Amino acid sequence: MLPAITFGTYEVHFINELPALDGLFPWANYSSIYVLVDANTRAYCLPKLLEVGAFNNATILEIPAGETYKTIDTCEHVWDAMLTEQADRKALLINLGGGLVSDLGGFIAGTYKRGIDFVNIPTTLLAMVDATVGAKTGINLKGIKNTLGLFNEPKAIFIHLPFLSTLDDNELLSGYAEMLKHALLSGQPHWDMLTTIGPKAVATNPSLIARSLQVKKGIVEQDPDEQGLRKVLNLGHSIGHAIETECMRMGQPILHGHAIALGMVAELWLSVRLLGFPQPEFETVSNYLLGLYGSFLNIDLSLDNLAKLVGNDKKNRSKQLLFSLLRRVGQPEYDCPVSNEMLLEALVYLRGETYEV
Ligand code: NAD
Repeated sequence: MLPAITFGTYEVHFINELPALDGLFPWANYSSIYVLVDANTRAYCLPKLLEVGAFNNATILEIPAGETYKTIDTCEHVWDAMLTEQADRKALLINLGGGLVSDLGGFIAGTYKRGIDFVNIPTTLLAMVDATVGAKTGINLKGIKNTLGLFNEPKAIFIHLPFLSTLDDNELLSGYAEMLKHALLSGQPHWDMLTTIGPKAVATNPSLIARSLQVKKGIVEQDPDEQGLRKVLNLGHSIGHAIETECMRMGQPILHGHAIALGMVAELWLSVRLLGFPQPEFETVSNYLLGLYGSFLNIDLSLDNLAKLVGNDKKNRSKQLLFSLLRRVGQPEYDCPVSNEMLLEALVYLRGETYEV
């Protein structure tokens, strides 16, 4: 078993056997325990979790699966169920699921009766390496990603790799994209190691997941509230979130990590032009990303709509587009001004590349 990793006030534990959970957290200190699941984690993960003694009397709260349900309506349904069950301020919420469940559950926990404790048990690769750590929680508003949210730390995170055995390959690939992002932020050796191993092997390799977490920890600890350095973790997200939102609006959703990988290609193209990111490295990285993710963008997205969505990004200030870009692999920069013309050129480039793959 790998040692726990400390993040702010909480620890991320790797657990081989679920019954170990009984001794790792003071469950008995809470008046009641609620487990938030979506339809898939209810079917695949919850039965194993309920074998743990501490959860014998837990109340299950189920939401539908899928990003389109990351909304205030879904929150209302959960708040309502907790109120009906008379959950008090000493109740504990366990988020058992991917990034949808932990983003939404962390937000619900932060707002219910002015805040109750919560624990994350991630069940997707993306949630293990990224979404459940770092204390960002939130929901979408009118389809725009993470518009409402809170910084809210869980009391603990428990990673149990066998949960990944029921996850399909595209979902694994989605999580792998965030690991590739961590490698690009961290340096060439990390990138080389991860791309040599490839997406399939990471799901059984806890030390690779731990390495990704260490990159995120190193950044988040220096800037927990995202006033500066933490923005580098948004590499690929200014354009990636716009792609994700627009695909959802067009009724053809793309997975979060796939959208971020494509966003990274366009943002590395900007990095070449604006920060002198070396062209040969750009070609190596973008060919790798397009080889894995290029075929997932196969609908004709409106460049105007994408540009408007990028204009709504939380990192912008006074209508100036501000991106996180790379000077070299391992040398990220944040608050890089990007003109509207340059953004459109990057989107035109990406559209050409994705249609050619
Ligand atoms: P997700 O939670 O929607 O899960 C993906 C799919 O896998 C869903 O259909 C889910 O039901 C299913 N699933 C989950 N676990 C499973 C299992 N073990 N077996 C079978 N199926 C399973 O998506 P995700 O990719 O985990 O997370 C994406 C979300 O995370 C997005 O909303 C994104 O904005 C958010 N996110 C948040 C942060 C953050 O810092 N808060 C960082 C990155 C991403």
